[in-house]
Amino acid sequence: MQVFKFGGASVKDASGVRNITQIILQEATKQLVVVISAMGKVTDALEELTWSYLKQQADVSKKWQAIRAYHEQIMRDLVGEASYKTHFASVFESFAAVEAFLANGPDSNANQVYDQIVSYGELISTQLVSAYLNYQGSDAIWVDARRLIRTDDAYREAGVRWETTCENITNTLLDLLSTNVIITQGFIGATSHGFTTTLGRDGSDYSAAIFAYCINAKRVTIWKDVPGVLNADPRWFDETVRIDKMTYLDAIELAYYGANVIHPKTIKPLQNKNIQLYVRSFINPQEPGTAIGPFTQHLQVPSFIFKINQILISLHPKDFSFIAEENLSRIFGVFAETGVAINLMQNSAISFSIVTNNEPEKINRLLTRLSEDFQLTYNDNLELITIRYYDQNTIDRVLINKRLLLEQKSRYTVQLVVKEN
Ligand code: ADP
Ligand code: ASP
Ligand code: MG
Repeated sequence: MQVFKFGGASVKDASGVRNITQIILQEATKQLVVVISAMGKVTDALEELTWSYLKQQADVSKKWQAIRAYHEQIMRDLVGEASYKTHFASVFESFAAVEAFLANGPDSNANQVYDQIVSYGELISTQLVSAYLNYQGSDAIWVDARRLIRTDDAYREAGVRWETTCENITNTLLDLLSTNVIITQGFIGATSHGFTTTLGRDGSDYSAAIFAYCINAKRVTIWKDVPGVLNADPRWFDETVRIDKMTYLDAIELAYYGANVIHPKTIKPLQNKNIQLYVRSFINPQEPGTAIGPFTQHLQVPSFIFKINQILISLHPKDFSFIAEENLSRIFGVFAETGVAINLMQNSAISFSIVTNNEPEKINRLLTRLSEDFQLTYNDNLELITIRYYDQNTIDRVLINKRLLLEQKSRYTVQLVVKEN
């Protein structure tokens, strides 16, 4: 058994859908679960729609119509104007469901509303691909992941209830899998009360790992627009090299520091069951990509991870007390309550510095709370550069034209907080 995952970039238009259909059909004789994300930039567009809807702005309908038109164009391109409404009837049911939802004003909290709306990106993309596979003569079956992936009610960042989830998945899928290809959604699940939840942005890789874990798959393949895991994001670096094989440990470290080619939660379930993860190119599907698994040799090239729009916040206790357990526990409490994730931290006797993503709303709430007990200074517009398996040459190279504000080294990893000169 194996799991495939296709992200938004792979299904951004009709030729993308045709391409992944070919990849799926080539493997269809093997037992296969296919997890698909929302098409192109649809999740971003559904987020914008949600904000408008929550504020009951005049542009709700216009925003929705653009999303609907985008999908309709793909369906027309796939099967032609005359018959697309018949072939893709299930997609039109989802359109109607969204329109019914939007017709009433919001009646629950913002995060819950967000999940009810944004999840349609994945529902629609999978209905569309599944119907197209059927149109091509495949007996692929569409399965609603909300019936399988049980979560808590932490909307927008839901936690998986593993036991119930695995029970649901094995009960529903194991039989089906021996005869049909399964098409299902990434990123979404549901509470025990049947409300839709989402697992956090970019969560479809994680969904693939959940399915793989529960069915004891042999391997997971995530199909991307890059040749595999590279030693840096090609959007930032001209000269990158593809990594052929990688240990689970290196993969989880790179993902943790922000190499967003793999969602950080993906590795643990796979490592726990020794399931290999392949990162391959949907543009060149014959290429080998990267294998992540129980290998022994760590990476042989330095890897670079860049995070922009960082803010460095330094705290000094107003009463000149040490940064010790009591102050630390108060500081971490405020970070947890305001949902601000720490990318790097460092302390001295009477100061504590952290680096985090500069998300203004969250940061304002955080600073207000912290300023009750601490004097604060901050510096924004920074970059956080992480190098795994660094040496002095690689450090010097990334520091060209940059001013270094803070540096943290461990045996294998260096993190540099810098400002452009
Ligand atoms: P998906 O379509 O599955 O959502 P993503 O956009 O999340 O795919 O991930 C693919 C992107 O990740 C690539 O286009 C690339 O720009 C970026 N990326 C960041 N770090 C790396 C890396 N180390 N190796 C390869 N790609 C990377
Ligand atoms: N569609 C979701 C997102 O854009 C999940 C994913 O693509 O992994 O965040
Ligand atoms: Mg992604």
